[in-house]
Amino acid sequence: MESDPQKFRPRAAIAMARCFPPFMSTILDERLEALFQTVVKRNPGETEFHQAVREVFESLGPVLVKHPEFGTHKIIERICEPERQIIFRVPWQDDSGQVRINRGFRVQFNSALGPFKGGLRFHPSVYLGIVKFLGFEQIFKNALTGLPIGGAKGGADFNPKGCSDGEIMRFCQSFMTALHRNLGEYTDVPAGDTGVGTREIGYLFGQYKRLTDRYESGVITGKGLDWGGAKVRKEATGYGTVFFLQEMLAARKDSVEGKVCIVSGAGNVAIYAIEKLQQLGGKVVACSDSNGFIHDKKGLDLALIKQLKEVERRRIADYARHHKRARYTAGGSIWSVPCEVALPCATQNELNGKDASRLLRNGCLAVAEGANMPVTPEGVRVFLDAGIAYGPGKAANAGGVVTSALEMQQNASRDSWGFEFTETRLAEIMRGIHASCYQTAEEFGAPGNYVHGANIAGFIRVARAMLALGLV
Ligand code: GLU
Repeated sequence: MESDPQKFRPRAAIAMARCFPPFMSTILDERLEALFQTVVKRNPGETEFHQAVREVFESLGPVLVKHPEFGTHKIIERICEPERQIIFRVPWQDDSGQVRINRGFRVQFNSALGPFKGGLRFHPSVYLGIVKFLGFEQIFKNALTGLPIGGAKGGADFNPKGCSDGEIMRFCQSFMTALHRNLGEYTDVPAGDTGVGTREIGYLFGQYKRLTDRYESGVITGKGLDWGGAKVRKEATGYGTVFFLQEMLAARKDSVEGKVCIVSGAGNVAIYAIEKLQQLGGKVVACSDSNGFIHDKKGLDLALIKQLKEVERRRIADYARHHKRARYTAGGSIWSVPCEVALPCATQNELNGKDASRLLRNGCLAVAEGANMPVTPEGVRVFLDAGIAYGPGKAANAGGVVTSALEMQQNASRDSWGFEFTETRLAEIMRGIHASCYQTAEEFGAPGNYVHGANIAGFIRVARAMLALGLV
């Protein structure tokens, strides 16, 4: 094996695994509790998957009362079981000629609404439980977009950090050689996620093209702009998160203008969330990477961050060398920085209950998740109890997959749209997602609760389609 995945799991996740299940704090109704226990039993050790399932179940009680047909047809049981799971060996050679072996995954979770759709994550922490939590979330996220896309996720326990370009290429080629038979523009359409950007998508697509002898643009999204990619795809998740935040604030007669903001992470999502916040007049004072965070009271210099992360592939610590006024804290928590708006854009379970309480004490009034499940269940509870604007990832970070679906539309019609047109479409769809979560939360007696709104609205759309398609 490449590495020990446990070593890379965030502290909160490890604690969760040890004293499982501390997140069973809220009561489920009897039937959903029994179903949850079955999921835990059938999927042992997959703590992140259990967490994601439980969070959705916590919203479903009233849905089963209103729609008894979902119970009769065992929609919940079916939704928790992936349609197909593929686990495969990825052998490759490093630059010294040594043979290396990784494990690849693709979990094709649900195709009731369209072809399987969801990203690939290359990170040493990847194991089946992570891929399944991400795939499960993706079903509802994709449903919320209103676009015809099912839910899937994949990846490998491969650590791209420190790899040469040639090593990345050989890894991607081997990964695609194993997976290509299971993909297709009408079957399953991967994209990027942590550790998979345009470079990796290029190598994956190139190998698919070579193996199939087809220029099937719609088989993968996040492509480069010269070879079938969509404008705004790179910016989409970060921009979309801020569009969702804007809507949550507007519903409270407030706006981003003048707000002090912090954004965790320094990858694609974080960088473009910072960009959009700044465009809307927000003052972003901190961001981070897995080593530490920088705090710049005057506001972050985004051009420098882009240069360090996108061009030079360096660590965020280097920022402080260029700006003397900025303070770098190694290992500390970015959530200690006072702010009004916090966007967790790094990884799952990066913000726990204590962090949430600290943010509130420091005056935080809005949180939108750019990453998938970055706030622990205790953290979510703290935000919901306080009644601040809290946008869960499956709604707030849907902008990435929305723009992937727009890329598929362009590929299907052999077209290429302009930046402004694409961004306008993205903004419209994010507004639609917000409206649907907001209205659904009201309809189900939980006004302002976007967790219930997102879970219920996403679930109902998939459940209806599953009923319509019969027992498949
Ligand atoms: N990985 C992204 C997500 O979490 C994007 C998936 C896609 O574009 O298919 O939604």
